[in-house]
Order: sequence, then structure tokens, then C-alpha cells
Amino acid sequence: MQHVYLALALAAVAGGFVLEYWCRRATVRSLPSSPPLELSDSYGPGEFDKFIHYTREKTQFGNVQGIVSTAAIFLFIALGGVGWADSLAASWASSLGFAAAGPDASLVGDIVRGLVFLAILGVLSAALGLPFTLYGTFVLEERFGFNRTTMRTFLLDRIKGAFLAVLLGGPLVAAVIAAFHLAGGWAWLAGWAVASAFSLLMLWLGPSLLLPLFNKFTPLEQGELRSDIERYCETQGVDVTGVYVMDGSRRSSRSNAFVTGLGKKKRIALFDTLLESLRKDEVVAVLAHEVGHYSLGHIPRIVTVALLRNAALFFLLGLALADPDLYAAFGVQDMPVAAGLVCFGLAVAPLTYVLSVGDNALSRLHERQADAYAEQTLRENLHVEGGASLAGALKKLATDNLANPDPPRIAVVLHHSHPPLLERIRRLNT
Ligand SMILES: [Zn+2]
Repeated sequence: MQHVYLALALAAVAGGFVLEYWCRRATVRSLPSSPPLELSDSYGPGEFDKFIHYTREKTQFGNVQGIVSTAAIFLFIALGGVGWADSLAASWASSLGFAAAGPDASLVGDIVRGLVFLAILGVLSAALGLPFTLYGTFVLEERFGFNRTTMRTFLLDRIKGAFLAVLLGGPLVAAVIAAFHLAGGWAWLAGWAVASAFSLLMLWLGPSLLLPLFNKFTPLEQGELRSDIERYCETQGVDVTGVYVMDGSRRSSRSNAFVTGLGKKKRIALFDTLLESLRKDEVVAVLAHEVGHYSLGHIPRIVTVALLRNAALFFLLGLALADPDLYAAFGVQDMPVAAGLVCFGLAVAPLTYVLSVGDNALSRLHERQADAYAEQTLRENLHVEGGASLAGALKKLATDNLANPDPPRIAVVLHHSHPPLLERIRRLNT
């Protein structure tokens, strides 16, 4: 089995690169020379050429990043980097006085060893990604006028993110390690329960506790837009506790909107960039789409799918963690739980890649349903042509964001959580 684990991990890294490369090539090859008929009036002078130019540059950047990070990760795994990081963690933990290595490792020793191990991997992967994130934000996005992040905001975001990862991820990892130490044959179930409780807690607290750490929310001023939004929500039986404007423009000129809150009480957040670029009826249509996600029960459905899938993965994890070959495949000694989690994650990467394709397909189905919901409810309850407003909004958002209106099928299947623009506006206009 040892070779099977390693082969799966390396195949996922190399195969993932080949698929992504093929997908980027197909995207560039499928670029049209003029805008599709439905969008002929959507692009301002020079904007379509800018889109073509942006897509090409982004593809080239993706190729460079893909080659460098694939090579680095492939070599790291093949040369036993996982085992090296774990033995470094074990010796640090031992030097701090914890029984972290060998057969008499204690639970606390294993937790300390695991946290140090994950911290080492976290720092390495941040170091590998940082030059690309910097270039992507301050050169590529900057050149096309998207970036509004200052170096200060960028660095503060990174620091806050790292702090949150330690503060939230640390206890989670410790609890999962403890579950596998203490729960015997039912460890996978205990580990799954811990991870599920954590993700439900994040879903509940995230929007109200975490998002305000990164953005400022101010109540939308009273006026026509606000009363239109409230009137629409009332017809849908949605109890709005607040409509807020989020300062998305601090980081980027890209725009969005979302609805948060579990249960009947909802908070609505609109990016300030959305209000800058859309008409009132278009903002209401975007909001109606978001309300559609809630009213159609998309969130609980996605959560249920994720919880069930995680149960299956944790069951497999339980089997794999008991197998000495899993650790040996990556050069790890003593079967520590945290390193086992990473080895397992690498070995099941082909499976998680396939699962993400399924997630995207489900998400695209939900997007189509939310579009139809917005169109129908706006027509029936507010007696307006919501479909046309939503199509107008989607066109503006896509052209402003230089999004590809008609990407090749392979790109949609692998990456897109939303149907392509052209497909959406065709459906809304029929
Ligand atoms: Zn949506």
C-alpha cells in the first residue's frame, strides 16, 4: 500500500497541473474576436480588447504559477518533505519537554508536535504563494484597474488571517488529534463530530464575528432603494434586521452582495462597488437572487451534502490512520495523527478534486434556480421585469470584472460555481 499512497498523491499534483494547463489553453483558444451578439452593447470603447488582454495575461500568469508551485510541491512530497517537517516538529516538541516522539508519546506531546508540524507547512505554503499573490494583486490586477488594496491593508489582512488560523484552527486540530487518541474504533465518528460542530459554528458566527474584522458595514441610508429592498423582502416573508453597505472598494473594484443569518432573521450586505455601478432595479434584482438562495433552502442543502461527505472521508481517514504504510509512504515516523491527516489529504487529493467538480455542478444548479426565483418573484410580487433587470446587472458586473462571458466547457466543469454569463442572460431573456 505504501507505494499506492505516494503514487496517488504525486498523480494528483501532476495530473492536476496537466488538467489546469489544458483548461487554460482551451480558454485562450476559445476567445472570440468580437463580443457575442447579446453583449454587443455591454462593452464600452476598448473594453472588449481589455478583456481579451486581461484573460491572456492571467493565463500566462497561471501557467508560471502552476509550473513553479507544481514542481515545488511535487519535489517536496517525493523527497520526503512531509517526514522532514514532522521530525523537525517532533524534536522541537521534545526539546520543549513534551513526550512527543516514540511509543510513549503523550496526548499533549502529540498535539504540540502536530501543531508545530502544521505551522511549518503553513509557513512554507504561505512563502510559496506570497510572491504570486503579491504579483497578482499589485501588478496584474493593478494594471487592469481592479486593485484598490494598499500594502498596509494587504499586510494587515495576512496578519489577521494568520492569527485567526492559529486561534480557530489550533483548537480544532487539537480536538481532532484528541478524538483519534481517545475514541478507539469510533475515532472517525468523534473526529467527524468535532469537525462538523466547528464548521456549523463558523457558519453561524462567521458573518457577524469574522467579517467585521476585515470590512466595515454601515447601514444603507433611508431612501427609494432601501424601501424597495424592504418591500421586496416583505413579499418573500424574509425578516430583514438590517441592510448594510460593505466597503468592498477598500480592496478591489469587484462587486457582490450577500444575505447572512440563520433562521428567519436576515442581514443583507451590499458591496459599495455594487451601488456605484448598478441602477436601483438592478440592485434589487441581484438581492432577489440572493434571497432566492435562502428561500429555496440552498444553504442547508449544501451543508447537509458537506456533512455527509465528510462523514465518508472521516471513515476512510480512520482506516488510513491505522495503516503504518500511510506514514511510511511520506517518510513519517511514529504514526502521529496530524502528519497522518496531511498524508491522508495528499493521498485522497484525486478524490477531492473529483468531489469539487460535483460541488461546482450543484452550485451552478442553485444559481440557475436563484435566477429563476428572482425573475418570477419580482414579476409576480412587484410586477416588474426582474429578469431584464437581473440580466442587466449580470452584464454590467461581468464586463466590469472582465469576466469571460462564454468560457469553454472544460473550464466551467472544473472551476465555475456560476453558469457562464451568456448562458444566464439567454435563460433570463427567454
Ligand atoms: Zn447566487
